Amino acid sequence: ELNLEIPVETKDEIGSLSQAINDLAKELKQYRDNRSEFFANVSHELKTPITYMEGYADILAKDLVENDEEKKKYLQIISEEARRLNVIINDLFELSKMEEGKIDLKLMSVEPTSIIQRSIDKVQLKAQEKDLTIRSKLSPVPHIFVDSNRLEQIILNLLDNAIRYTAEGYIQVSLTSELEGVVISICDTGPGISTEELPNIFERFYRVEKSRSRAYGGTGLGLSIVQSLVLQQGGTIHVESKIGEGTRFKVMFPSITSSSLKSHSFKI
Ligand code: ADP
Repeated sequence: ELNLEIPVETKDEIGSLSQAINDLAKELKQYRDNRSEFFANVSHELKTPITYMEGYADILAKDLVENDEEKKKYLQIISEEARRLNVIINDLFELSKMEEGKIDLKLMSVEPTSIIQRSIDKVQLKAQEKDLTIRSKLSPVPHIFVDSNRLEQIILNLLDNAIRYTAEGYIQVSLTSELEGVVISICDTGPGISTEELPNIFERFYRVEKSRSRAYGGTGLGLSIVQSLVLQQGGTIHVESKIGEGTRFKVMFPSITSSSLKSHSFKI
């Protein structure tokens, strides 16, 4: 157990060395705590679908259900839970690769409009099924230096959340060129997230309490993956939200300007 704390009594080298060791011990403890919490979460998330599958499979195996409709329903639940397990495991795998810095990013100069348009097209059907309109306003912007598949993954993930959590209204996607770079904004008229909960939503497995009910699908890992992808490509992600009004995610990537290209070629 690392509950070590060396008393720091002097201001000389020994004092600062002791302080440094104390800081390191504290950091290590935090790392260990986070890790245990992470494993506890993983176990819980994996266990829940398995418990459902076991339960319904047992009932079917014991031939306790006579009604065919009922049987079909149980089989569907089992299949849905298996699908959910698969999604969680894929997300975990992706996240672990990212944390080890093992994902291959094929960074290149990209014009984001067509990627955003393609992402919107892909989720259009899902939005229509819920009677949600996707509005978009995509202005011409400078190129950015990203992996186009990963950019699509980021946008699809944010759009998927917006559609899943919004009951009625619309989703607005915009692309603009601002002083700090190219900004992609995805805004919805969903339930919103409270100020207290907002800072936590990028944490692994974090779900806002009221939507913790499994009804919304999702693994609680989506935004962690999105944030990690954005940061690894030199971007930033921000969120603003108001309960009862909606949520806006803003993803920014530095634009490639002629001066950044020049400094790049100078380095070579
Ligand atoms: P999940 O797979 O549960 O959607 P995410 O990591 O994508 O996990 O999101 C974390 C949590 O943040 C969600 O469970 C939800 O409570 C909240 N959230 C994310 N996007 C939105 C949104 N557009 N509107 C309201 N709540 C959201």
